[in-house]
Amino acid sequence: MPYTPDTIAVPLLSSALRLIGLAADDVIALQDHAQAAYDAALASGLSPTKAGFLVTDTIASFRFRVLSGEDAPWHPAPVTSTKTVRHLADRLYDACFVVIAYLIGARISEILGLQAGCIEYHPSGAGDERFAYLAGRIYKTARGQYGDVHRWVAPEPVVRAVAVMEKLTEGLRARSGRPELFLITSSTGLIGPAVEIDLPVANTIIRRLNMLFAPFIALPMHGGRPWHLNTHQGRKTFARFVGKRDRTGLAALQAHLGHVTRVMSDRGYVGTDFQLSELMDRHAQEETRTALEEMLTASALGGKAGRTIAQRSRFRGRTRDGDVQAYVDFLMAETDLRLGVCDWGYCVYRSETSACFGGEAGPNPVLRTETTCSTCANFAVSPRHRPVWEVRRTRNLKLLEQPALDTGSRALAEARIAECDRILAQLDEG
Ligand code: SF4
Repeated sequence: MPYTPDTIAVPLLSSALRLIGLAADDVIALQDHAQAAYDAALASGLSPTKAGFLVTDTIASFRFRVLSGEDAPWHPAPVTSTKTVRHLADRLYDACFVVIAYLIGARISEILGLQAGCIEYHPSGAGDERFAYLAGRIYKTARGQYGDVHRWVAPEPVVRAVAVMEKLTEGLRARSGRPELFLITSSTGLIGPAVEIDLPVANTIIRRLNMLFAPFIALPMHGGRPWHLNTHQGRKTFARFVGKRDRTGLAALQAHLGHVTRVMSDRGYVGTDFQLSELMDRHAQEETRTALEEMLTASALGGKAGRTIAQRSRFRGRTRDGDVQAYVDFLMAETDLRLGVCDWGYCVYRSETSACFGGEAGPNPVLRTETTCSTCANFAVSPRHRPVWEVRRTRNLKLLEQPALDTGSRALAEARIAECDRILAQLDEG
């Protein structure tokens, strides 16, 4: 099963995060208001149909808020039916599922097993700082049917998603007497006396994500076609992100995921999900293998390390055949070669020659930029990175056209153009 490509994962998660923010309060207020009116109408003896009409009149005046930095209400259309209330509540549910799946890497069975009150705070093993954890159970690898108790590090949006779900499905838990957070109802509107309440099956979540949530957030196409989401992609995407040494593609989410990575590498972190760790390692290895094959066979490479590799590689200009694969197998098995993959090139990492002052664990993420890498002895650029350097060059040329640009910014833009020219010329030499 594939991970979600960055071009889909970033808008998917950004929209989900936006929905669970202030917009969630609107949806919960609307649902509570509508349900209270419906319950009162039913209690007064009205039929469900008549009670529905009464609710529609009551909620017609509901207005959604304008979120900070935006000009119009986040949901422009007025609420004209109880079906709209259910639709919005369900999309908020989908957003919470996405946030938890993509930001902690939990499986669907683990998310559906979560219960109200599942956020716990514990001190980190290394100090006094306290971290939020999501307390649940792992079922897939457990010995018994009730799963093994497990704690996931919960970044702030996951804490929020749980708080939203606690409110959103409070009525369903109260009516069913069940404790789970992710209960759904058979009703297409509000909760009536004959409604069925249960956990969804995986296919329901997959259908909702693709047929309802993706259009609701206007998820972009991938290669001109809709990207097919499934319930396992959050875990794969999370593992890939944490496993790879560079996170530039998902920079927008780095703060949330960085928190998780930091706590997971803390020696005191309990309850490590070993299968998830293996998945992360596998992703890192796959990326290293692909990058090595590409570098060994490229007819030209840029960057200091790239030029050395291109000069010495006996596979230069060849296709990726069995010889290349065998040599890469040998390199990966016999050396402690560590390769960092990022948008603008490869890092053949050695701490002693690291221009970003990286340490034992790898490059320094704070100083790791195109400019620093372009002068570093560890850096290699292959033809597949050419567009990144071309776009950077064009962007800085455009900047120079601004008459109001100050001297410092002008000098910076010129220096960046020179860096791009140097790298592109090295690639042209092939
Ligand atoms: S500056 Fe050098 S060591 Fe640091 S990430 Fe770039 S290539 Fe790697």
